[in-house]
Amino acid sequence: MKNLLIISNWKLNGNKYLIDNFINKISHVIKNYRFPIIIAPPLLYLDYMQQVIKYYKCDNYISLSAQNIDIHNYGAFTGEISAKMLKDIGIQYAIIGHADRKIFHNEDNSTILKKFILLKSENISPILCIGETKKEYQNNQTIIVCIKQIKNIIENLGILALQNTIIAYEPIWAISNNTIINPIYIQKIHNAIRNYLMKFNYEISKNVNIQYGGSVNCENISSILKQPDINGVLIGKASLNIENFIKILNIINNNFYSC
Ligand code: PEP
Repeated sequence: MKNLLIISNWKLNGNKYLIDNFINKISHVIKNYRFPIIIAPPLLYLDYMQQVIKYYKCDNYISLSAQNIDIHNYGAFTGEISAKMLKDIGIQYAIIGHADRKIFHNEDNSTILKKFILLKSENISPILCIGETKKEYQNNQTIIVCIKQIKNIIENLGILALQNTIIAYEPIWAISNNTIINPIYIQKIHNAIRNYLMKFNYEISKNVNIQYGGSVNCENISSILKQPDINGVLIGKASLNIENFIKILNIINNNFYSC
């Protein structure tokens, strides 16, 4: 039986109504699921969603993640929020290095490293997104690019920094656009990442959670999760509609936890 983890990234979507409706509906089925779920709503709603999750008694099944943090813990940085603030309200995870941040906010490896360090110092698990552009994919550079992004962490902080870290492989060209991606291709990349980590630490290479994200939906979820080195999925668009998300969760439960 696989130990799967499912992450839902709401990006810049949702409101209080959606949160109430979403958690209410999921609360009727969530006790059937034998895998954990993490939801990353917009930062503004983290605290509210946490209260709604508690109200519906789903806090043993759903954890929350921030979609981003600042590279500082406090100070004159208008509009930002910090790892310390997340810790203060009891948030356990934060996505860093998401493709949207790289594309629209020019985030590079040095920024991602700073955020990673701040999260670790607050004991918040980073969900470290890595992935290649379309051009890098076409030039067969995917593995080199992904490994460089992980090496950025290992070289600066050591391999043990990857304990309690979730790696999310998200090809930038396959996010939010219904791309049909071959699960065998994803497996190849996940396996290359694991083999790279093996050079540093066997246990970490075996146990690190490597998620896949990029246009995951009801149709492709099973074939993706069947691949041995894929530990779960990070879902954007297809997780925003609660009926559709529950459909995906049911497929996972039925196909991977039926015995
Ligand atoms: C994402 O936001 O990280 C993502 C994978 O989105 P989508 O599922 O919409 O491609």
